[in-house]
Amino acid sequence: MDDRLDQNEWEESLDEGLDMQSCCLGNLVIITNTRGAVRTAKGAYPARYGLYGEIRDREFTFHFNPTGEIRYTRGLSSSWPHPWEWLKRTWGNDWIYYSAGVDKSQGRISEWVGESYLPCLSYESNAIRNLNPYTDPKIAVAFSAWSQVYGTLCTASLEGIPQEIRDFIIRVIQKNDDNALIAQAERLHNIIGGRVSVLPPDTRHVDYEVIPITIQDGCLYRCSFCSVKSGLTFKGRSRDNISAQIKNLKEFYTSNLQNLNAIFIGNHDGLAAGIDSISYTASQAYRDFGFDNHPGGKPSLFLFGSAGSFLNANDNLFETLNNLPYKSYINLGLEAFHGPTLKQIGKPITPTMVQDALFKMIQVNETWANVDVTANFLLGTSLSDDHHHALIDLLSHLPKGSGNRGCVYLSPLIETQHREKVLPMFHEIRKQSVLPTYIYLIQRL
Ligand code: SF4
Repeated sequence: MDDRLDQNEWEESLDEGLDMQSCCLGNLVIITNTRGAVRTAKGAYPARYGLYGEIRDREFTFHFNPTGEIRYTRGLSSSWPHPWEWLKRTWGNDWIYYSAGVDKSQGRISEWVGESYLPCLSYESNAIRNLNPYTDPKIAVAFSAWSQVYGTLCTASLEGIPQEIRDFIIRVIQKNDDNALIAQAERLHNIIGGRVSVLPPDTRHVDYEVIPITIQDGCLYRCSFCSVKSGLTFKGRSRDNISAQIKNLKEFYTSNLQNLNAIFIGNHDGLAAGIDSISYTASQAYRDFGFDNHPGGKPSLFLFGSAGSFLNANDNLFETLNNLPYKSYINLGLEAFHGPTLKQIGKPITPTMVQDALFKMIQVNETWANVDVTANFLLGTSLSDDHHHALIDLLSHLPKGSGNRGCVYLSPLIETQHREKVLPMFHEIRKQSVLPTYIYLIQRL
């Protein structure tokens, strides 16, 4: 393994009070207070950023949050598939495998998803490939190795171990019991009022590491095709509710806040909740989560919008958003530029609204430097050729220069058959689109 590959990303500790310490415990090397890249790394693999603890044996390395929960692992020997491939555990207690390369005939992964790795989820989603790394013995062995390491920690004598490392080991033992990990994810979901069924695709810019805050439930349209909707009618949350969430989230993340400086203002149409609610939430979060002078740099704010909420938004909204101390990303679910397809998927908007929203997106991106708007469309073998042709027609005839900011995401429908046809479809649209175009894989939290 070559740890020098992204050596330039490593920066010195900003916190003089936390020195790296290490010791051996049997065949394990234990390291506390390791500093990765100060900002979320956008390299070939995003694992090493912020502050983390590490435990290594000869075959694997395991990384832990400042509060002790496991967050990454990868193999260190030549039997591991690739040095850039990692397993990550999310705050929602899901494992994700970062694959560095499959099917080279279909181009580089960065051309599909905008990042150098393909997230392979451990739950049903709109995967573009029938990839299941969890059944690959080379990868599955990482989980049994972790169980063994955990067992070793639980039974080892900690006598003679420096106090700080001993505290770290005790945290790891307490926090990584299966029931403790499940309970922690449930606690997060209870604070915000349920699991986040889908994160905006733009959260890839921070490796999906966002603090979720719910400012509204439900959505405007409740489209029939949608697998992530809650089924609730749209309703905003009160300021008291939002404040309580932020207070409880601060207590939930505690020292992990030094590794997090992005928020997802949810749920499915945060934009429709209005700028007062968005800016109230952003300001409270900025203050309570310590985003001022955060080691990760300028914080990011992510939210979803719909054709309706985006077309209704006026300059005052974008100006206010632009003036927040965040880089803000709005992701719009437009889905199709073809009337019969919109009818087929049960989305009550028109092609005219879709076109107007796309043109407005380009204009907002040109006007407001701190606001990035992106749009989603559907991809799938069960949609007609006319749908795909209409999309190509729309995206290929945008004014030249439209692609300087923002992008389009193509979201494959969840389908288990003909998946192999989806990627060529994507490439056909991508090549003709004036805007950068990527695949959008539904990731939950
Ligand atoms: S696609 Fe968006 S607007 Fe339609 S049901 Fe799903 S979340 Fe709601």
